[in-house]
Amino acid sequence: MSKPKIGIVGFTGCTGCQLSILDLEDELLDLLNLVDIIDFRMAMTGNKKGPYDILFVEGSIVNKKQEKELKELRTKAKVLVAIGSCACFGGVQAIRNYRNDRVIREAQYGKDADKLPVIKVKPINNVVEVDHYILECPVNKYEFLDFVKYVLIGGKPKLPNLPVCHQCKAKENRCIFLEDNIICMGPVIQAGCDALCPSYGLPCDGCRGSTLEAAYQQQVDLMVKKGASVSDVTRFVLKYNGEDPQVKEFLLKAWIEQDKNLKYGEDDKE
Ligand code: SF4
Ligand code: SF4
Repeated sequence: MSKPKIGIVGFTGCTGCQLSILDLEDELLDLLNLVDIIDFRMAMTGNKKGPYDILFVEGSIVNKKQEKELKELRTKAKVLVAIGSCACFGGVQAIRNYRNDRVIREAQYGKDADKLPVIKVKPINNVVEVDHYILECPVNKYEFLDFVKYVLIGGKPKLPNLPVCHQCKAKENRCIFLEDNIICMGPVIQAGCDALCPSYGLPCDGCRGSTLEAAYQQQVDLMVKKGASVSDVTRFVLKYNGEDPQVKEFLLKAWIEQDKNLKYGEDDKE
């Protein structure tokens, strides 16, 4: 029986998710006994552009060429999985969607700005159908490995839909948000990281996206009570998740009254 064919491709991001997978090293060799990696452009030569049993896609979509390529890849993939914050929610580059696009591009590229046509930053599910999501920035290599094994035995992985606070409390960590007034996004962010940052005394930065029905208004009320300024709130809420539907709804319906600097889609050519 032939082994399932796997592809790992990247669009716009820092390639950290692909590096995380490469970092599996020993486990990757074991994995190769179970699957056939036919396309991993960052790691090998002789790649084949499908067909794939499972295709993992890193990065967000920022121009028409990428949009076309992703659509073509989708036709060749039985299962397509978004990996990392960029692919799932737009990533840090989606901050651009909330600012004047022309001003940002001119600051970066000067007079060459028009030679580099871009569109609004899109998570991949804004372009094609996505079957599964592996969260985090970068993805946790063991979560990736568990996902592959689970799918290979016919499982249908589901996200836990618990906030980071749930895992943080289970570890009996001190709550730095309530006790030290350090702004932490744990109450609205999807668990699964074992509350990694708060376990080291650092705030949750939001890299796993929102829980279902995340209470952003209550979260922001508490942030303000703990001393966050308007720009702090925008920065924390927006950082990885600009195209997370709940973040977008909160920022553009409620927060835009507070933060007059939010300019979603301004000068966007789409
Ligand atoms: S999700 Fe994070 S690690 Fe992965 S490509 Fe995007 S910025 Fe890099
Ligand atoms: S430190 Fe952050 S993640 Fe932990 S309980 Fe407090 S708010 Fe939640």
